[in-house]
Amino acid sequence: MIVVKVGGSAGIDYDAVCADLAARWKAGERLILVHGGSGETNRVAEALGHPPRFVTSPSGYTSRFTDRQTLEIFEMVYCGKMNKGIVERLQRLGVNAVGLSGLDGRIFEGRHKDSVRAVENGKVKVLRGDHTGTVERVNTGLIELLLGAGYLPVLTPPASSYEGVAINVDGDRAAAALAVALRADALLLLSNVPGLLRDYPDEASLIREIPAGDVEAYLEFAQDRMKKKVLGAAEAVQGGVKRVIFGDARAGQPVTAALEGAGTVVS
Ligand code: ADP
Repeated sequence: MIVVKVGGSAGIDYDAVCADLAARWKAGERLILVHGGSGETNRVAEALGHPPRFVTSPSGYTSRFTDRQTLEIFEMVYCGKMNKGIVERLQRLGVNAVGLSGLDGRIFEGRHKDSVRAVENGKVKVLRGDHTGTVERVNTGLIELLLGAGYLPVLTPPASSYEGVAINVDGDRAAAALAVALRADALLLLSNVPGLLRDYPDEASLIREIPAGDVEAYLEFAQDRMKKKVLGAAEAVQGGVKRVIFGDARAGQPVTAALEGAGTVVS
């Protein structure tokens, strides 16, 4: 089983990702796709007059402050436009894909965090009314049902809180939790960069290999959102996933290239 996560940043070639996935699926590989949608969510939120608000925690992690209206815009884009766009591409390629969010069948479950600590103008503030959380449990029943019946699952945040409230969760870490729960052979985190760069944004500074026991030491090279990918990779290998690969989704055959070792390989 291979879990492929494709991000939501500018430059990602979803046609290329879907074509590559479809070919591998038809050749008999077992796959699940998890996707993001942050770039498009930012555009739609601006257009709807509710621009995105990003907050940075005291430990340096950036996240989207998700009030109820933001959550609804998030769902429109992630579960609507992005998810159905990917499912449509796969269907056109002859793959019977089914798109679901983490709320559906409670595939992704976690604790609702209503408040977030954010550094603003050098001061730490507590912001309330947040709809975020972290995936703590993956309920694989529905996914196994779908895979067993020949469907390719296409999953996206939000997740469900234990109380059944939609929560915005990080897609990379959700994909990592899924890979652990399914005992996947590999987790691919595909984005708009060649992999983890030692000296971002210099693409020539690609880190080719990271020993599995040493992933957290590489957090120092990752800025802002890349940190979550490194954290997800650490969680996946600690949970028993043999290989995590940060790969490039901008062109070519992104899944095949990553599996052949083209990005940053954590193993
Ligand atoms: P996605 O939505 O595609 O999953 P993110 O935007 O969450 O991707 O994270 C990838 C981004 O992280 C890259 O586009 C890049 O701008 C940024 N980044 C920060 N530090 C690094 C680094 N050391 N190597 C690669 N990318 C980095």
